Amino acid sequence: MKITIHRGANQIGGCITEIATEEAKVFIDFGCNLPGSKKEELTAKEVDEIAGDADAIFYSHYHGDHVGLHHLIPVRIAQYMGAGAIDIMRCKYDALNTHQDFSQQLTAIKRMIPFKERERIAVKNNIFVTPFFVSHSAFDAYMFLIECDGKRILHTGDFRRHGYLGKGLFPTLEKFIGKVDILITEGTMLGRSQEQVVTEHQIQLNTIQALREHKYVFALCSSTDIDRLASFHAACKKTGRLFLVDAYQRRVLDVFSEYSGSKSSLYKFDNVFELRDHKSYRIEKITNYLRDKGFLMPVRMNSLWLIEDMVQVFNDEAPWLLYSMWSGYAEGGGDNANENVIAIRHLFENRILDGVKDGFHTSGHADVATLSEICQAVSPSIGTIPIHKDVGANYKSRTSRVFDEGFFKTDGIEIEVH
Ligand SMILES: [Zn+2]
Ligand SMILES: [Zn+2]
Repeated sequence: MKITIHRGANQIGGCITEIATEEAKVFIDFGCNLPGSKKEELTAKEVDEIAGDADAIFYSHYHGDHVGLHHLIPVRIAQYMGAGAIDIMRCKYDALNTHQDFSQQLTAIKRMIPFKERERIAVKNNIFVTPFFVSHSAFDAYMFLIECDGKRILHTGDFRRHGYLGKGLFPTLEKFIGKVDILITEGTMLGRSQEQVVTEHQIQLNTIQALREHKYVFALCSSTDIDRLASFHAACKKTGRLFLVDAYQRRVLDVFSEYSGSKSSLYKFDNVFELRDHKSYRIEKITNYLRDKGFLMPVRMNSLWLIEDMVQVFNDEAPWLLYSMWSGYAEGGGDNANENVIAIRHLFENRILDGVKDGFHTSGHADVATLSEICQAVSPSIGTIPIHKDVGANYKSRTSRVFDEGFFKTDGIEIEVH
């Protein structure tokens, strides 16, 4: 058996992991480099060179750094993903397709095969892949147990313990996974260990407080982060403010409710005020209603013009921005700085409830203590391959051998880490 980390060992995002035997070959994730990356993206020809002879691709979740190159995968190769994640992909690309041609992505999404949690998928009766639910800032995210050549590999995908459903992590490991031979784990927080880890529940409490103090709140956040949106939705319910969304956000919330509403009442988005049409907040009856109730509106990086217009209409009290994203986007001059984010923040001057600092954002990724506990829980007999981490962010383990960059041959397995 050979494990190849094509990409992702020395960068966050662009994840491509290959597991191959004499008879079969699968990939876990086939992602894009993150926006702002200076590395050139793979071409269709290069994707074909890497994955052309694969039997199947399994996607851990719908973030672009894990699934972004799916449309370049040759048609004959089976691509698997969670059913809810496929629906979110469809929402996202349908929306993007109104501005630019994304028909290639939409066609590829139609061919995606949904998998079910804990259902073992046999690839050529040689490699067996089983998805297990994990909590992440994406909804319908999974880690994978891969069994082949008598060995067991756990690929964590992106995950965390401090989300609403994160408490299920260790019981799942204990009950269904147990010990493994190789652990392939994300290590995002290894390079951000100074970042405070707030729970989603704490963010909900902080938002309740903010909504009591301020009538108009715009929350800059990811439109597909189920936990964060659940926190805001719950805070609106508890304070009587409107949870105000546009048609795209509504469609995403409906997918969340459909798939996860039964897991927790938090994920039943049943108290939503939708702005059906462009600028319908300017219709007098609606304007008055929104002025009377006050609102929290989740907005996105490309919502600048909308916010600019809305703050003109809702001007009887000063509007506030709840910045609920990673601080890197807002750092002018930084590699990940985003012009739109900076412009939106500028609109609110000093009326910003700011990210991790003020308790309105938390990472989608496991903190260092959780990474270490995972390693203890599955105690990989051969070793650990850390991926999805910054250059120079080191994964250390007292109990497990660590495979960083290079080529290794051990216990009948070849490991190649780029
Ligand atoms: Zn990722
Ligand atoms: Zn992710």
